[in-house]
Amino acid sequence: MRRTTIWPILALLLLLGSGAGGRVRAADPFTVRGYYVTVTRTPTFGLDAWKKTIDAARADGANLVVLWTAGGFKSKKFPATWGHNKDHENIRKDFVRDLIDYAHKNEIRVLLGFTPFGYDGVNRMSLEHPDWAATGADGKPIKPFGIHSWGRNLCPAQEDVQRFMLEYVREMYLDFYPNADGLLIESSDYAVCHCKRCGAKFFENEFRFVTAVSEMAWKKNANATVVVYPHYFTGAEAPGLGVRGARREFDPRWTVFYTPHSARPDTDLTKKAKGAIWSDDSPALRTPTEIRDAARHARRSGCTGWVPSFEAFTYTPTEPEDGQQYLVGRRQQPLGFGWLKPEQIPYDELPARVNRVAYREYARNPDLSDTDFRTTLGKDLFGAAATPEAVEDALALQRVFVTGRTWWQAAPVASPDRVRAMKTAGQLSAARRTEYWQALDRLREIEQRYRGKEPFSGLYRPAKWAVGEWAGDTRKLLDP
Ligand SMILES: [Zn+2]
Repeated sequence: MRRTTIWPILALLLLLGSGAGGRVRAADPFTVRGYYVTVTRTPTFGLDAWKKTIDAARADGANLVVLWTAGGFKSKKFPATWGHNKDHENIRKDFVRDLIDYAHKNEIRVLLGFTPFGYDGVNRMSLEHPDWAATGADGKPIKPFGIHSWGRNLCPAQEDVQRFMLEYVREMYLDFYPNADGLLIESSDYAVCHCKRCGAKFFENEFRFVTAVSEMAWKKNANATVVVYPHYFTGAEAPGLGVRGARREFDPRWTVFYTPHSARPDTDLTKKAKGAIWSDDSPALRTPTEIRDAARHARRSGCTGWVPSFEAFTYTPTEPEDGQQYLVGRRQQPLGFGWLKPEQIPYDELPARVNRVAYREYARNPDLSDTDFRTTLGKDLFGAAATPEAVEDALALQRVFVTGRTWWQAAPVASPDRVRAMKTAGQLSAARRTEYWQALDRLREIEQRYRGKEPFSGLYRPAKWAVGEWAGDTRKLLDP
């Protein structure tokens, strides 16, 4: 059978065997499970691609998905918010409402994600209103920044800015996607405003909006899930932002959101909250071992939910993001999988499937032994053809595709262009060259071992592709 036929059957068997999709069993450590994904940064993915993403999430035991949508819907009130995304499938066809219905049919709830006063869509308002822009720590107008959507983050002390922010989210939730189950109010992880009215009062000012937008959501639906950051309640320093949080009253209708890089867990707050969600980057950027460690950390922190990022980008950068000029004008390849067509999701490719199995299994049982994980992984990837050697090769392949990867840049071994940029910048050390040679040799071994062997085509294809990228003169890049 072709893999496309086997996969749904395997998924069905797994569902039957494990007590179905997102349903939570009494012994499960997390009542909320799923992925955080950025619709706004995948302009090439249409409704079909997103339905397949929901299918993948369901097969992995998800019951909630965060769809980060700001900047990716065709706002009538604020067209500047999608000016960078004119060719986005959702701007052209507005499919997200249908996608949410589809998720509901699959017993998955959907939260709409956005950042108050920053990031996608919102930061572009500074192009029309330069006076809305935030002030940097040096007292000067803040520098433009972005991922796909470039502009300046905004100052929440200004009434016009507060009004815009509330109107924009009202439009997204009430007019465009009222079937969503709530909001993720994702406080910025990159900048605050240091003007005279913000600074130490920044989170007080942001909190005014958070309160207003939460009331808007609960007025629409008293059971709406509204997820907030801890910055408004604990008074703790916001990691990396150079200001302390506020100390405001916590409304127990809120669910609280923690991340490793921008919002540390707070036991007292967790006790007061409707729920507490841990969100890290392990499925998108790391290995099964790190996914396991994230599950254990989330459980130890008392979180009732685990919703890590599985973001894949397909936009074309217009600025040297990640500090890399070579990325400008080239479409991002989702999860660094350069063999895919722009409209193809990465989640059914073997390196991603390794992490999906890891998420599914460790979300259910963070104490799962390595032996049991490998047995399950083998069955999932190769069915009856599974061998310990094939599982070891799958783990090795996955490791190659995440080693050195960043949100924007593929692993060096999967991107000669990146290695060329490193060489030009004088960053291609002898140690790195050796590391890349060894990884390429490992891929070559995998390619040769599984050539023409159908049950292992998922393993063969990425290896063959990556080895092919280094054919001919390109290999000389790695010469001393
Ligand atoms: Zn300000």
